[in-house]
Amino acid sequence: MVHDFNNAVVVIGGGAAGMLAAYRAAVCGAPTLLLEKKNRLGTKILISGGGKCNVTHAGPIDEVRARFRVNEGRFLRPSFFRFTNEDFVDLLTAKGMQVYTRPDGRIFPVPPGDAKDVVEVLEAHLRDAGVRVWLDAPVVSVDVEDGAVAGVTLENGDTVATRRLIVAAGGSSYPATGTTGDGWRWMAQAGHTLVPLRAALAPLYLEPTPPADWSGVALRDCLLRARRAAVADGGGGPGKELMRWRGDLLWTHKGVSGPTALGVSREVAEAIPESSVVEVDVLPDEPFERLTARLVDWCRAHPRRAVTDFVEEALPNRLVRPLFEAAGADPATRGAYLSQRDRNRLVQALKGWALGRVRHVPLERGEVVAGGVSLDEVDPQTMRSRKVRGLYLCGEVLDIAGPVGGYNLQAAWSTGYVAGETAAADLMKEENPSA
Ligand SMILES: Cc1cc2nc3c(=O)[nH]c(=O)nc-3n(C[C@H](O)[C@H](O)[C@H](O)COP(=O)(O)OP(=O)(O)OC[C@H]3O[C@@H](n4cnc5c(N)ncnc54)[C@H](O)[C@@H]3O)c2cc1C
Repeated sequence: MVHDFNNAVVVIGGGAAGMLAAYRAAVCGAPTLLLEKKNRLGTKILISGGGKCNVTHAGPIDEVRARFRVNEGRFLRPSFFRFTNEDFVDLLTAKGMQVYTRPDGRIFPVPPGDAKDVVEVLEAHLRDAGVRVWLDAPVVSVDVEDGAVAGVTLENGDTVATRRLIVAAGGSSYPATGTTGDGWRWMAQAGHTLVPLRAALAPLYLEPTPPADWSGVALRDCLLRARRAAVADGGGGPGKELMRWRGDLLWTHKGVSGPTALGVSREVAEAIPESSVVEVDVLPDEPFERLTARLVDWCRAHPRRAVTDFVEEALPNRLVRPLFEAAGADPATRGAYLSQRDRNRLVQALKGWALGRVRHVPLERGEVVAGGVSLDEVDPQTMRSRKVRGLYLCGEVLDIAGPVGGYNLQAAWSTGYVAGETAAADLMKEENPSA
């Protein structure tokens, strides 16, 4: 069966970018159809920020943009200014949702509001704008004829004929949320260049794997450093630093996760991951000398107490003995008996505890995937494909991967908004060339 949507904008993907694109196209006056593979909209939004949904990042939009890699930030400039972080917050608050900004700039719904409410607000905007939504409607191919979009084919064999198609099918991480890299396959077939995929914002699997009872242990406000292993650098001193990230660290049964691990993962994945190591500075605000002086003072003040008590102030209980083991110091040592050698080793371990070699950075477990449709082939002012007429791209299908902190959703909202606006304008111009 052929569904005629030639006088409409069709959007593939009911995630962050696709919902904004459909909303904006409809508000701009275009009949709009949104096709979503899953049986509900916004599946990935629902799991974002651990279900709390870090919707965007606060601050001047140009500073938000500057947190992306240079070429990505350059590409995002027009869309970020066209639809800012404040504009997105306005969209939420227009439906009664309240948001708050954490000290680190991340913006969340005020509890008990959460990711589910974000999706509900967006659904309400889609309804108000008159967007038609087809759920359980997986697209299997994008049909291009003579360099122009002709329509899409659905899994049930039906075709949707359209000349204005927005592809917002996302990336390939967390495939259970519906994102299985379909958009990339279609875009490659349509003649677009794909930048090779790499994990980003992903956990790190380590060798040796941490003991089972460390799983779930968190270290607050530490500094994680990823380095090339010394041997990969030709031996000698510590290997070259690849990336550092400050924040929380979480142990898992396979390695480490949490903002710090995610923050270094893209650089690790881009280097040879297996020759990278990670180490954690447990007390990043304490320079080596000051920490040494503090430990000396503490030992003087507490000659009879076990030095483990000092370390417990900085580390979760379960990690105290392992740190002593890593330092090669005896955890039973009392303040009065801590030798200068052991003191130095303990301070060294607190400032750079080697956690192991990176065994793997799992692409599918990343919050985003780096790589995708080359930014050179999409016009950043309009999100029009430079390869296929009537085609627009937005969201993670593009080669964009920002840091943790609401940046990736903002990229999806902004690029989606612009894609919707342009597709609607192009459609209406075509229908009414004299207007
Ligand atoms: C665990 C996790 C937590 C995250 N937390 C945050 C956070 O707190 N803040 C933040 O900024 N970012 C976060 N992100 C990243 C953010 O969710 C993504 O960057 C964003 O969702 C990308 O938007 P998108 O619209 O491009 O893709 P998606 O939101 O993934 O949407 C793509 C949609 O396309 C649909 N689709 C795919 N193929 C087809 C097809 N063949 N036919 C029809 N439909 C199809 C999918 O089902 C999906 O609904 C997180 C990601 C994950 C995985």
